[in-house]
Amino acid sequence: MSKTPTIGVLAIQGDVREHIRALSDSGVNAVAVKTAASFENIDGLVIPGGESTTMSILAIKNDLFTPLRAMQKSGMPMYGSCAGLIMLSNTVTDGRADQETIGGLDIVAQRNAFGRQVDSFEIDLDIPAIGDEPFHALFIRAPLVASIGPEVEVLATIPAAATNDENDRIVAVRQGNVMATSFHPEITDDLRIHQLFIDIVRAS
Ligand code: GLN
Repeated sequence: MSKTPTIGVLAIQGDVREHIRALSDSGVNAVAVKTAASFENIDGLVIPGGESTTMSILAIKNDLFTPLRAMQKSGMPMYGSCAGLIMLSNTVTDGRADQETIGGLDIVAQRNAFGRQVDSFEIDLDIPAIGDEPFHALFIRAPLVASIGPEVEVLATIPAAATNDENDRIVAVRQGNVMATSFHPEITDDLRIHQLFIDIVRAS
């Protein structure tokens, strides 16, 4: 793609403005989208952090799941942060019984997996796909990627040693044109996660 890509941010709930700023600062056209008609003009879609149960209710009410799933299946690059990760998961645990997702990532997302005591925390993560410099990641009532299918690439984990857990915890993934993070790059000044997504959009 030689022209400047236009990336939509799904604007039904959540930190839409923050993603628009991060995308604009990264040199692409960023637009808020909330109707099927507005999906026509975008080259990629970001699903923001927020509250996935509310996003699901509003997407059902506004008949958005059918066009969103069709776009996803046709190969539209999509990136979700936090609640957006949940929206892009094929399976969710600890959700509402009637909660729906767009899907696209063959993962099980466990909502609010880090427990009440650690509602939010920050940690430096090694993310080889964006370079050697660690990424300072903010987690807010974050989901965990509890398991992944064979086609899912792990982009980042919180090492077991950092949490006294038995296992590393998966917090960033990619499957083809779809990527997701448990954390919120949109509320930091580090643009490298958005730039990685823009590279996917440009290559598609
Ligand atoms: N706990 C929220 C949910 O389940 C996600 C939190 C967030 O996006 N900061 O959707």
